[in-house]
Amino acid sequence: MSKHTVAVVRYEAPGASVRRVVELSGGLEKLPAGGKVFIKPNVVFWTKAVTFPKWGVITTTRVIEDMVVLLKERGIDDITIGEGIVTMKPKDLETPAHAFETLGYGELSKRYGVKVVNVFERPFEKVELGEGVELNFNTDILHSDFVVDIPVLKTHNQAKVTLGIKNLKGTIDIKSRKRCHSADPDRDLNFMIARLADKLPPIFAILDGIYTNERGPSFDGKIKRSNILVASPDVLSADMAGARLLGFPPSDVPYLVHAAKNQGRPIDMSDVDVVGEDIDDLARRYTYDFTYAETEDGELPLPLARQGLRGISYRKFDLTMCTYCAGFNGLVLSTIRNAWKGEAWDDVEILNGKMMAPTPGKKKTILLGKCMYQAHKDNSDIQEMIAVKGCPPQGDQVLKALRAAGIDADSTLFDNMDQLPGFFMAQYKDRPEFDEAFFRAS
Ligand code: SF4
Repeated sequence: MSKHTVAVVRYEAPGASVRRVVELSGGLEKLPAGGKVFIKPNVVFWTKAVTFPKWGVITTTRVIEDMVVLLKERGIDDITIGEGIVTMKPKDLETPAHAFETLGYGELSKRYGVKVVNVFERPFEKVELGEGVELNFNTDILHSDFVVDIPVLKTHNQAKVTLGIKNLKGTIDIKSRKRCHSADPDRDLNFMIARLADKLPPIFAILDGIYTNERGPSFDGKIKRSNILVASPDVLSADMAGARLLGFPPSDVPYLVHAAKNQGRPIDMSDVDVVGEDIDDLARRYTYDFTYAETEDGELPLPLARQGLRGISYRKFDLTMCTYCAGFNGLVLSTIRNAWKGEAWDDVEILNGKMMAPTPGKKKTILLGKCMYQAHKDNSDIQEMIAVKGCPPQGDQVLKALRAAGIDADSTLFDNMDQLPGFFMAQYKDRPEFDEAFFRAS
């Protein structure tokens, strides 16, 4: 049986380290001469308002540029960098443009002639992924000859890890992204994302672990300088190796289990040859999510439970909450925390995602988002319903709902949503290993 190859190297120097991992993995051997190449970075989030931690959140421009150079050396002239950044307003085209320019993609365009596309400004095409799953993919990736998939090596608070396969979610339209967070337990997020790579052109995956992220995928995670690069011409093998580097056996990562099963592959990597560094030498155990605790009122994130908040229950989100609602999660929790004055609230429960059910007997139930409202608008277990019906919910409506439940919510965090990521920069001050230059063209 021929084995899949995964290369693991330590990142040591610009140019040379990416060259080494690419050569060791044999990843560009099947690159078609004169082909169209689509590069998929991971730009999970952006704000124009402030500088925020990009380490371990966004693919370094360093690795992208090094890949572009290798492609150009092989005579590839038609290169597109494409991404669909999550923004709270789907029609916002300025924020992605600002992201691409700030990350130096404009410079790469001038220097190497690469095209840069916001997938939301391009057409999508329906793709059947088997078992009745249909998602709409960006036309440019579908009609390329070869994909270079460059995610960050990081954890994810729903999927456990987010690597090459999940990174492709950034090439589907918003409707499809919401569909991935399905409420059907047999066809959940892991079932859906396991299929994302199946109908695309050949993929070369390179996992950018110069910075890694515990409790990712965003800037509120615990970010480490790890100096690891992983590459493979087989994206599933790259992801299995990436999961192990983050401390998860592939058999513990449900989307990898689905993907391996779909492809008739063993989940123990017995059909994979790892070359370069030994995975076990570099692997560290990462946690992927914040802890929640049971309280006498139900459930709360551990820091809020420890603070002694009473009269409120805020259950841990599940796989059905999509990214657009997830953007509010931390904000709502921080607002509740700031509103706590030591006096118990009036038995409030807050529900989100698509599957949660109200606890009978609760006095006030806040339904966050259209999905929760649709699911429970006629639910007789709810005594007083306070619904935020938007998809995604709007900040002013969320504030109104909290206040209607008797929580004296201050609007400061919501008013300054764009600025908040900037506060996370303080912890990286005077730490030269966190270098902003990784996010600029050389
Ligand atoms: S309401 Fe929230 S969970 Fe429901 S589809 Fe909209 S963004 Fe997703």
